[in-house]
Amino acid sequence: MNLLKMKIVDNPQCPLCLQENQTTEHILWECTAAIDVWGECSKKIQKSRISHKSLKELMVEMFLKLNKEEMEELEVVLWKLWRRRNEFVFKDTLTPPNFLLQSAYRSLQELRESKHGETNQPAPTNNRVEEWEAPSRDFFKIN
Ligand SMILES: [Zn+2]
Repeated sequence: MNLLKMKIVDNPQCPLCLQENQTTEHILWECTAAIDVWGECSKKIQKSRISHKSLKELMVEMFLKLNKEEMEELEVVLWKLWRRRNEFVFKDTLTPPNFLLQSAYRSLQELRESKHGETNQPAPTNNRVEEWEAPSRDFFKIN
């Protein structure tokens, strides 16, 4: 089992499509598995999908084209795509595009709520409660 994992990690091929070298640009942008996800994103991000650019060039181009909210969407989806690739390599699970996007939009929502939280308090939602990692420390400090 370990050997198999090692082989996948060392393989220069993309673990998701097995067709191209796994560069960062490929995993996040050019891979058919990534294209499936981007196809469901904001129209402007879809239109901006130009292949064979470095990730840096791409981000610069996007920064010029997209507004702040679209840029946030882009960054969160990139982050989720990278996590999905790691989960696939290390845990053998592949998150479907719609699940990935749901999770991305939830993170985006939380990001926006936390940014605006100081001025106007967002109403707590059930989603947020589920994602709390641990109860408050005071809970353990009763003695
Ligand atoms: Zn690929």
